[in-house]
Amino acid sequence: MKLDRLGDFQRTHRNGDLRLDHAGQTVRLLGWCRRVRNLGSLVFLDLRDRWGLVQLVANEETADPELLAKLKAVRSEFVLAAEGVVAERESKNPNLATGDIEIRLTGLRILNTAAPLPFPLEDEGVGEDLRLTYRFLDLRRERLQRNMQLRSEVANLTRNHFRELDFIDVETPILTKSTPEGARDYLVPSRVHAGEFFALPQSPQLFKQLLQVSGFERYVQICRCFRDEDLRADRQPEFTQIDIEMSFVRQEDVQGVIEPLMVKLAKVIGQDVTAPFPRLPYRDAMAWYGSDKPDLRCGVKIQEVTDLFAASGFNLFRAAAESQGQRRVRALFFPGEAAGSLSRKALDAYQEQARQMGAGGLPYAKWGKDGLSSSFKKFLDEGAEAALKDHFRASGEGLMVFAVGTDAQTSKVLGDLRTKIAADLAPMEKDPSLSTLFQDKNAFAFLWVVDFPLLEWSEEAQRFVACHHPFTSPHPDDLDLLETDPGRCRALAYDLVLNGFEVGGGSIRIHDAETQSRMFRLIGIGEAEAQAKFGFLLDALAFGAPPHGGLALGLDRLVMLLAGVDNIREVIAFPKTAQARCLMTDAPGPVDERQLRELHLVPDARQTYRVGAVFFESAEDGVDPVKRGELRGQALQQIGQLTPRQAQGLVTLDPQGQILDAQSISGPTFDF
Ligand code: ASP
Repeated sequence: MKLDRLGDFQRTHRNGDLRLDHAGQTVRLLGWCRRVRNLGSLVFLDLRDRWGLVQLVANEETADPELLAKLKAVRSEFVLAAEGVVAERESKNPNLATGDIEIRLTGLRILNTAAPLPFPLEDEGVGEDLRLTYRFLDLRRERLQRNMQLRSEVANLTRNHFRELDFIDVETPILTKSTPEGARDYLVPSRVHAGEFFALPQSPQLFKQLLQVSGFERYVQICRCFRDEDLRADRQPEFTQIDIEMSFVRQEDVQGVIEPLMVKLAKVIGQDVTAPFPRLPYRDAMAWYGSDKPDLRCGVKIQEVTDLFAASGFNLFRAAAESQGQRRVRALFFPGEAAGSLSRKALDAYQEQARQMGAGGLPYAKWGKDGLSSSFKKFLDEGAEAALKDHFRASGEGLMVFAVGTDAQTSKVLGDLRTKIAADLAPMEKDPSLSTLFQDKNAFAFLWVVDFPLLEWSEEAQRFVACHHPFTSPHPDDLDLLETDPGRCRALAYDLVLNGFEVGGGSIRIHDAETQSRMFRLIGIGEAEAQAKFGFLLDALAFGAPPHGGLALGLDRLVMLLAGVDNIREVIAFPKTAQARCLMTDAPGPVDERQLRELHLVPDARQTYRVGAVFFESAEDGVDPVKRGELRGQALQQIGQLTPRQAQGLVTLDPQGQILDAQSISGPTFDF
């Protein structure tokens, strides 16, 4: 098809902006054909640009034949320039912003054709692999356009927010140094320095701290970070952080610049949130919600009931009561009719879920229309039942589920089931006050989890590792515990949590070299290693580092929650799959051997030289004569001969001229 040229065609309006007020005006528009329909003598075409959709129309009986012919040649996704007059529609479309009007076509240019699409853009059921392979088309969908627009707004709002607060935006390197701790690095081999590697930053952590030492008191950067981890729905190998660092601050000061930003961001999607957000110590988060990122949209709390079973006939529970705190009985209570009438099948499914999380089962007690049913009913006499109900202030119908074990085991099981059961019950419950207790889907529940432990014991490494990172300051009240009981030492670390997701985390940092060295020792990094890996940081801390702290927000995750989607890939223009692959470009991919050789990732073709009577017969340039003499001597020694008279040898050198192999070979003996 012969294409028209854009020439001097200029759009007068964005498609989505046209309204009844424009009736009578001649407009020029640009965009893609979403679809063409022939209805009797009328031909309709929906024209889409970034700002919306508008209907174009031509009447077969009155339109210019050339225009009509062109219009009939148009297929979905052709690129068009259209001219026409805005007119009120006869049948209006209330679902479309431009639904009151249409454009009576007077001219049309076909700027480009489009092959039939691999999937219709309106089809929401297309497999994700196909969508990601043709991501440039997938991104034409209205939903993704909206997500990307939201992401852009979040980024702009964030930049403005921090600019108003006098933060300075500083870029930090992408090619940097691999440091121990943290996740697995993405490495970049150095061509210039054989056998050495850059690492892509897991975060600009050390650079932003060094910037504080340099005097950039309020730093911000929207930066890309890279971690080679196993992926989940809310993780990508490269992701974006809103990264800040401040000097002379306490944790409230850092939280104090983040909260108003969250209020502004929530407002973008029409959510009103109020600051300050609740602060919850880590210990309470684990005890009440079984999670360090509790979803506070659900108000149901885990309660300890061990003591109620001290004299119970139910061995499992009594044994826990007798274990002197080693094991506990903990429970959740969901009040209401929906919980009281849960089916056996539903309870079995929760039971199975508890088993998958390592529990032996999920003992329950349920009060329904027909009274009590329980997996340990014969041990629940009236007194015990009353004590339980009293403990939970339970009257009427409801469900109680129990877990027995260590704090960690029971927190895991009940923490997960808490939100799962609540989310199942919320839509079933008729009493509206209970559905908000279970899960108010529309709420935005922010909180800070504070007082994290500084260290945790790693079974795998058989040593303590930093919970947040090794630059986090111990809680000043717990400094004495550092060497005596490190596991109990709290950190000045805080996470920002939204609806069960960690959206950010940060800490007040260690700002003196001595405490930093103590910390390194605690996590098994000795003096020499600390100097080799973190010498620059220790130096910097010794040259007048101010007290400082900061935080990083996960931009992708935040936008995911604001957009109301449950997959981070929906808010990233060109994401990787869960297998860390880009299906569109097919990265990662192989590279050619020459590149590998340049990067010293495969050994160079070996060079073979003769030693002995015929010295370096095949020596090529690159090995200088002095070196050649040395090598000859070494090679002869390796093959156990001292003088060239007695032997000939073959020596194989690597590209740096080091001997890889030397061996005797038979051949004529020369007598000099
Ligand atoms: N760099 C940290 C992280 O990426 C955040 C911080 O401590 O500021 O988790």
